[in-house]
Amino acid sequence: MNHPCLTCGACCAYFRVSFHWSEADRDMGGVVPIELTEPLRQHERVMRGTSQAQPRCVALDADIGRYSRCTIHPVRPSVCRAVPASWEFGAASPQCDKSRLAHGLPVLTEADWEGVEERNPP
Ligand code: SF4
Ligand code: SF4
Repeated sequence: MNHPCLTCGACCAYFRVSFHWSEADRDMGGVVPIELTEPLRQHERVMRGTSQAQPRCVALDADIGRYSRCTIHPVRPSVCRAVPASWEFGAASPQCDKSRLAHGLPVLTEADWEGVEERNPP
């Protein structure tokens, strides 16, 4: 069974994805592609597409609820890495639940993880 995130993508089209500017600065060891970001406030950058009324990250390749992948997954911002899917690691995730509900998807339950071999997809 596939990881539930691979048929979702809701959180990448719900939140403003902001982070410290250094994450997109190569000279500071940052890896997030700066061309996919834009400035936000004094010390932050934001993923393009997420700082608007109906957010959708420019790096998202998805039909929400059917298939989803982050096109920069290995170099995505830390804030993206920090959002767990509900029950992936034994607890509900408010961010996951909120974004799935906003996109008309049911929240994940422990049953959604039965038979999922790979957690936290690469
Ligand atoms: S963390 Fe939750 S909302 Fe985000 S893609 Fe995975 S299942 Fe969907
Ligand atoms: S960078 Fe990737 S994981 Fe983060 S919001 Fe965009 S598509 Fe989602």
